[in-house]
Amino acid sequence: MANFIKLLPDHVANQIAAGEVVQRPASVVKELLENALDAGASSIKVIVKDAGKTLIQVIDDGQGMSETDARLSFERHATSKIKEANDLFALRTKGFRGEALASIAAVAQVELKTRTSDDDLGTCIHIAGSEIKSQEPVAAVKGTSVAVKNLFFNIPARRNFLKSQSVELRHIIDEFHRVALAHPEVVFALYHNEGELFNLPVGNLRQRIVAIFGAKTNEKLVPVQEETEIVTINGFVFKPQFAKKTRGEQFFFVNGRFIKSPYLNHAVANAFDGLLQERSRASYFLYLEVDPQTIDINIHPTKTEIKFEDEHALYALLRAAIKHSLGQFSVAPVLDFDRDATLDTPYDYKNKAPQQPKVEVDRDFNPFERVTPNTGGTPRYEKSSAAGWQELYAGMQPKSSTSGFSSVSYEEEAPNTEALFKGKDSSSEHLESEYGTSTYQLHRKYIVSTIKSGMVIIDQHRAHERVLYEELMMRMTGSDTVSQQLLFPLSLSFSRPEMEHLKAMKGVLEQTGFIFGELHEESVEIIGVPTTLSEAEVPQVIEQLLDDVDQDVPDPQVAHQELVARSLAKSMAVRAGERLEGGQQEHLVNRLFACQDPAWSPGNKKTFVTMSVGDLEKLFN
Ligand code: ADP
Ligand code: MG
Repeated sequence: MANFIKLLPDHVANQIAAGEVVQRPASVVKELLENALDAGASSIKVIVKDAGKTLIQVIDDGQGMSETDARLSFERHATSKIKEANDLFALRTKGFRGEALASIAAVAQVELKTRTSDDDLGTCIHIAGSEIKSQEPVAAVKGTSVAVKNLFFNIPARRNFLKSQSVELRHIIDEFHRVALAHPEVVFALYHNEGELFNLPVGNLRQRIVAIFGAKTNEKLVPVQEETEIVTINGFVFKPQFAKKTRGEQFFFVNGRFIKSPYLNHAVANAFDGLLQERSRASYFLYLEVDPQTIDINIHPTKTEIKFEDEHALYALLRAAIKHSLGQFSVAPVLDFDRDATLDTPYDYKNKAPQQPKVEVDRDFNPFERVTPNTGGTPRYEKSSAAGWQELYAGMQPKSSTSGFSSVSYEEEAPNTEALFKGKDSSSEHLESEYGTSTYQLHRKYIVSTIKSGMVIIDQHRAHERVLYEELMMRMTGSDTVSQQLLFPLSLSFSRPEMEHLKAMKGVLEQTGFIFGELHEESVEIIGVPTTLSEAEVPQVIEQLLDDVDQDVPDPQVAHQELVARSLAKSMAVRAGERLEGGQQEHLVNRLFACQDPAWSPGNKKTFVTMSVGDLEKLFN
């Protein structure tokens, strides 16, 4: 019988192995950065084009490679970092598998230039799809430059599978952050399409965090420090009041390597117990040093997972260390509330005055605009908040007839109920009511209303999301943008990548009613907001939006509109737990059923359920 088993040719084996190491452009960035650090670089520059699809180049000033090493570095399992299996248990380097360069060269066109301090001339190697194209001596500075071009050029399926530029760039920036945060003693720069995204000088950890996440970060940091026999803990957590509603900045490093650990994350969350608002998540930058013998980082090919010898002790120590810091720096919010107001300095007042009082105005903010006169709802909104504003600004501004509030334009009146409920599409048909539209709010979460066939139970948040979403989409595609000018421009700070996203979405946001003043490198001025939004809500709404962008964004303009509309609707919609007056309830019901697609929230969740009298009768059987 014939033999069937054959050894795979090297380039095929390399391509298969590459699948593990190189998932996307960001994986290349990570591997090259780690190599540069392992080579002892003190300054590392990353140049990226088209989110890494066209070019990823990493230039370091590390030890470089000899001619022979340069050639060998592309061989699979070629590494200078371990010599025997035992070395695995005392790793101090990032790499050790000797697979990265071989894998990258299997799926891209690579140019390596390198020179050691011992050599006068460097080496330049071109390799594409594992095939050496050329190798020659070149004049080069000490160190190494690896340029990776047209990633996946020979695997079209994988190339086509890459996500949009913004998503791939986001991943690259994430990897860059992880490495840069682990090494504040090294200079890092990141360029994208000629624009400089980051230029991080040498500094201490705090300075590095601030350089990456923006100046506003500094005041948020609480240091954490603990030294025990098992572990040394260093780093920072965000004060609880700066916790993000969605995903915050969460970084663990073990022996200088970024890791993910749901278990340790839990320990942090636990330390914050009771200090965070519902749904908020702690942000942290925590650095653990442990004996390399006590960890096994080799359980995952991309090495972000880790096994600790004594997980439970680590959990307890970490939790205690954070609790201790939070206590020591008195950042429990309770203390803030109890603070004697007379101790506040005038400076404090001066800084906070324009923003702080508005929070109270917003408590009365009625998302349902004008209440129709015959519904019996109290028009609390106009009365109290207008008065509030005048009081707040009395004496601060010359009285003018074009104050923020008089320029607020309201949307059209509530749609005529009868007409609506006679709508011919099937979803409205069965809502035709013979009882009028009496409504009832259940547990501050649902609105119950009678309909011809029985009753309808509406999720107030989702319903409002749907209403706002359709309004926003309409406004973006139409020409009638309604804005409310702010009395004082609002200045918000963001990190550079966040600013990039904001710039990309500026046009779409303007269609919803935002008016932007100047856009700086790390801050933006907002001079007008959509009428449906109050000023105090703006920071959170934009933060939420940036966070949503962070998740998967499908490509072009249309999608941007959709994303912005969804995100704004989500942030602006009335929440569960908010009490709605009778008139507001009815107004919401009417507006929901005036929507094109009333049955589903923008996130495709049910907005209401119905129950027929027949269903009820069955229940009573
Ligand atoms: P590993 O990092 O796991 O050893 P790599 O494929 O990433 O495997 O690199 C192979 C070898 O090439 C490394 O062990 C190192 O000796 C050398 N090398 C790679 N990048 C650099 C660099 N930027 N500077 C100096 N040497 C490098
Ligand atoms: Mg490596």
